[in-house]
Amino acid sequence: MTFTLAIVGRPNVGKSTLFNRLVGRRLALVDDQPGVTRDLREGDAKLFDLRFTVIDTAGLEEVTDDSLQGRMRRLTERAVDMADVCLFLIDGRVGVTPSDEVFADILRKKAARVLLGVNKAEGKAGDAGALEAYSLGLGEPIRLSAEHGEGMDDLYRALKPFEAEFAPREAEMLPETDTDISEADAELEVDENAHRPTAAKPLQIAVIGRPNAGKSTLINRILGTDRMLTGPEAGITRDAISVRADWMGTPIRIWDTAGMRKKAKVVDKLEKLSVADGLRAVRFAEVVVVLLDVEIPFEVQDLRIADFAETEGRAVVVAVNKWDLEDDKQEKLAELKEMFERLLPQLRGAPLVTVSAKTGRGLDRLHDAIRRAHDVWNRRIPTAKLNTWLGAMTEAHPPPAPGGHRIKLRYMTQAKTRPPGFVIKCSRPDELPESYKRYLVNGLRDHFDMPGTPIRLFLRSQG
Ligand code: GDP
Ligand code: GDP
Repeated sequence: MTFTLAIVGRPNVGKSTLFNRLVGRRLALVDDQPGVTRDLREGDAKLFDLRFTVIDTAGLEEVTDDSLQGRMRRLTERAVDMADVCLFLIDGRVGVTPSDEVFADILRKKAARVLLGVNKAEGKAGDAGALEAYSLGLGEPIRLSAEHGEGMDDLYRALKPFEAEFAPREAEMLPETDTDISEADAELEVDENAHRPTAAKPLQIAVIGRPNAGKSTLINRILGTDRMLTGPEAGITRDAISVRADWMGTPIRIWDTAGMRKKAKVVDKLEKLSVADGLRAVRFAEVVVVLLDVEIPFEVQDLRIADFAETEGRAVVVAVNKWDLEDDKQEKLAELKEMFERLLPQLRGAPLVTVSAKTGRGLDRLHDAIRRAHDVWNRRIPTAKLNTWLGAMTEAHPPPAPGGHRIKLRYMTQAKTRPPGFVIKCSRPDELPESYKRYLVNGLRDHFDMPGTPIRLFLRSQG
């Protein structure tokens, strides 16, 4: 079991129906009358290959007075506390009601991760409701029909990233013995083209950066439309939404962390939300484009976002926008490269691309850098090549010999991709200094030409 999902929302939106669909057994009662089921229910959910725990908060009365509102709040808060992810359901045929707003409020305050579902949206029935749902400020609505099983693929795509996020840490999952290592090896994708973006499996891109860096302008440019409005005011956008497109022949799904533009109700909260949304979009993405403003590059917020993308194991491309404003391009580029190396050493080798979202210059290079970063992120290196390389590395610069006994690096294999992860069997892995691990990781990156992807290295003991 990976994560726990709570289905929350006002009575009668279809929570129990969805719960039943996910659990596959009729555990919860369903009825036309609001509030037939009373308690929090928990079940083992299955959605295609995803397994998780689901909590149903059905059982709330329609809110007609204060005591009920209190009860609704308590039950929801309890579910939120128990869950890793909340799915907030509204009724797409009814649209956003005042009680929905109360729930949205609770979720914004208490829940770390919220998905927004617009139920009863079979056919086109939920179109208006889905549009309205954007106003809740909880991101892109997922259209569902719990009753008819529609939208389950979108729900799956939205939930899938949490599987990895809440999986046992990579290190714990890695094999402990030799036999396991060869099994892990065998499990890796052997089809080198398996990761190529297709219409069914578009390359997932998030564009993140400070307000006003030009995210919306860039995305409009990529999409070739003016679908998203842009303007000079900082922070007037906030939801993370995604759009599918074909970009220079590459099927993509692009997450705009600024997203829909609208008047904000709570102005002072906005900045905080847009950062949280940016971080959320990172989880959905395969490649993260960190968009900088050439006039104020590498600000603290930029650094935080880039670091988050790296720790989340995403491929990263750094794009410096508004390049059209720069007169002395050569000098500026040298300065940016120096800053990049100094301020983001963890992203060593990641591509730095200059673009002008406004004029469209540099977008072809950005496209190529993204494709390449995605390839590298999915790259698999044969075991024989790794071991030849490891031999050369240890010969050129032998590992230290604490207490007079040299640490021996015996065998190496790639245990995972997306991002690439390697296991080295060695004697006394705990004693190998960080500096030596860095030597290996940097060497891997250079020798096997892997820019723009995090590389994970795991040491396992063997005699
Ligand atoms: P809950 O109170 O939120 O748990 O809602 P229920 O699951 O009990 O559903 C309330 C009513 O909405 C029931 O009559 C369901 O049959 C109906 N319902 C649930 N999902 C859908 C749907 O996707 N489409 C339509 N048209 N009705 C639905
Ligand atoms: P967001 O908040 O990151 O989505 O930023 P916007 O896309 O709304 O852009 C903020 C401002 O920067 C707008 O006034 C844009 O016209 C301007 N802008 C965006 N890209 C460029 C660019 O490449 N060059 C110049 N000169 N201005 C740009």
